[in-house]
Amino acid sequence: AAVTLALTMSACAGTRGGDTSTAEPGANKGALVGVAMPTKTSTRWIHDGDAVKAGLEKLGYKVDLEYADDDIPTQVQQISNMLTKGAKVLIVASVDGTALSSQLDQAASKGVKVIAYDRLINGNKNVDFYTTFDNYKVGVQQATSLLEGLGVLDKTGKDTGTAGPFNIELFAGSPDDNNATFFFNGAMDTLKPYLDKGVVKVGSGQTGFTQVATQGWQADVAKKRMQDLVASTYSNGQKVDGVLSPYDGLSIGIISALTGAGYATDKLPIITGQDAEIPSVKSIIAGQQYSTIYKDTRKLAGEAVKMADDVLNGKTPEVNDTKSYDNKTKVVPTFLFEPVVVTKDNYKEAVLDTGYYTADQLK
Ligand code: BGC
Repeated sequence: AAVTLALTMSACAGTRGGDTSTAEPGANKGALVGVAMPTKTSTRWIHDGDAVKAGLEKLGYKVDLEYADDDIPTQVQQISNMLTKGAKVLIVASVDGTALSSQLDQAASKGVKVIAYDRLINGNKNVDFYTTFDNYKVGVQQATSLLEGLGVLDKTGKDTGTAGPFNIELFAGSPDDNNATFFFNGAMDTLKPYLDKGVVKVGSGQTGFTQVATQGWQADVAKKRMQDLVASTYSNGQKVDGVLSPYDGLSIGIISALTGAGYATDKLPIITGQDAEIPSVKSIIAGQQYSTIYKDTRKLAGEAVKMADDVLNGKTPEVNDTKSYDNKTKVVPTFLFEPVVVTKDNYKEAVLDTGYYTADQLK
């Protein structure tokens, strides 16, 4: 009993000390929340940032929203500034998930809670919560839609028994983004049986993550690599039948490399993507890109806002995954959302009926 009492007393002392995890409801009314986003080059992050800011402001919080231009030192500086300005919670979509340790330590020493947004922050225990889409599943869905577009699977996901062989090439995301390997592993686990049987073949032989990664998720880097692949591997009349692309921005670069190399726009390979960005949804409607993965950023933003509001009111945010996201120091409690595959068949239900875009935006 004495031990229990001592613990209770120290917990109370913590409250008086201003620890946000035990904050009294209302004690953080109007508090500042720092929101760090990676870049504005992709519209998804602009939607994320806007939605998080609006949600927090609606609850009466002040918001410092910053974009880091995909630059690690810029993001480090922005987060330091947020702490100096007295932010009580940080919501961070990191540029490099391993580069923020000293800022996270500083946050912890001030009782500031950290919510990793979409991308996990690695190698530091002061990451309190994480919200994201099921990243492994994104990769599974990308590879499944690639196989479906090639005719290896039917629309119910059943093996059609085709012998192929289909020539494919693989692209992965940025090596400093923790999500990139989840996407790639999900895709490779799905492709593996068909690679093993020779139904699909990677013409270039480049199948390792580091060989196919795209530094900084840069469309130009992917475009250049696709140009090189066409020149080196497909100069003998062979055609590329499919391209695993992990993100719409890269898919646009890849399509531009292929059309530049003489592929007709109505005879492009099956090309995947991610984020349901407007140019890619238009490309899907036009029959160029085959698929994308729709991740409703409004849901993710809403969850991050809820988590921030909870910790600022001394509540423990609800999570639905406590095993998948080990950041190398701990398994971070996570709220996961389900990604959705979008093709020409279902884009209306997915992105118009849900109000994600208006019909005018897709014209
Ligand atoms: C996100 C993807 C996005 C990619 C490039 C990833 O961390 O999860 O949605 O396509 O970054 O911005």
